[in-house]
Amino acid sequence: MKHLQQIEIRLIKLLPEYFEKRNSIMTDFQVTILGNGSAVPTAHQNPSAQILQFGHRRFLIDCAEGTQIQMIKYQVSRKNLSHIFISHLHGDHYFGLIGLISTLHLYGREQPLHIFGPKSLEEIVLLQLKCSDTQLKYPLLFHVLRDAGMIYEDSTLEIRCFPLSHRIPAWGFVFREKEKERHLRKDFVARYAPGVEQMHRIKKGSDFVLPDDSILKNKEITTAPPNPRSYAYCSDTVYDQKIVPFIRSVDMLYHEATFDDAMANIAAEKYHSTARQAAQIAAEARVGKLLLGHFSARFTDVSHLLEEAQGVFENTLLSEQGETYAVGR
Ligand SMILES: [Zn+2]
Repeated sequence: MKHLQQIEIRLIKLLPEYFEKRNSIMTDFQVTILGNGSAVPTAHQNPSAQILQFGHRRFLIDCAEGTQIQMIKYQVSRKNLSHIFISHLHGDHYFGLIGLISTLHLYGREQPLHIFGPKSLEEIVLLQLKCSDTQLKYPLLFHVLRDAGMIYEDSTLEIRCFPLSHRIPAWGFVFREKEKERHLRKDFVARYAPGVEQMHRIKKGSDFVLPDDSILKNKEITTAPPNPRSYAYCSDTVYDQKIVPFIRSVDMLYHEATFDDAMANIAAEKYHSTARQAAQIAAEARVGKLLLGHFSARFTDVSHLLEEAQGVFENTLLSEQGETYAVGR
């Protein structure tokens, strides 16, 4: 490790342009919509599922019937899929899970698969495996969603869950990139040749002390890293301002828009949202972009949902199956 750091320092001194370019390379952070329909599938609309990619990792959010077929259709690899998040136990959000678990087994998967979801999910899956006498070749690790808070963390990303307001317990998810270290200015490195430890401290915000005890302030010798990016998933839920604090200022919000203005009463009755209500939540949370989904199967054309939402929050898009959306920037 120390050897690699020495090489990097030599490179910084010899090739400052290389170093700057390396710092500007962004980790992929994008979401691919596999299904954006609600309760029942149609010829052109699958129920809920999406793949969030962050760097080399892939996270599956909801897994409706047909999800693995959508993955094949849209060429989403099963490789590096290590975590699945199930929002709630209505079938249009998890009926594809057992099929995917089985396929991963048949393809010889060995690495563990983490599944986050409501309490009964483990019981349901294990019963299906038991009845088919399937002994999985890989470990299934279940995590019950009980309280709002952190459910996943590594050095670059954290994932939190929070309760939605639906007919049965349902959860939303927020994916937040962690703040990166500050970047050293190449003119500073070339002139003062700081040591390894000093460079680490400066990247974390320390000032640089010169031999005569004068101080170069951190902001003069570094540049700020790009703002961390974030993505939130809210499906299914009635219009509920209680979710706003959990999703405040995210770069992209996927929010259900099952119904239109004319069906606002039905939306409230069924604990779903209209497109306009999704936009109200986006505006209140001051998100960057709103992606609408979970469209009712009764609509063959959802363009009016976009118009209704954009009346409240202009930076709104209709999600499209098979499309990939970059998060932030
Ligand atoms: Zn649903």
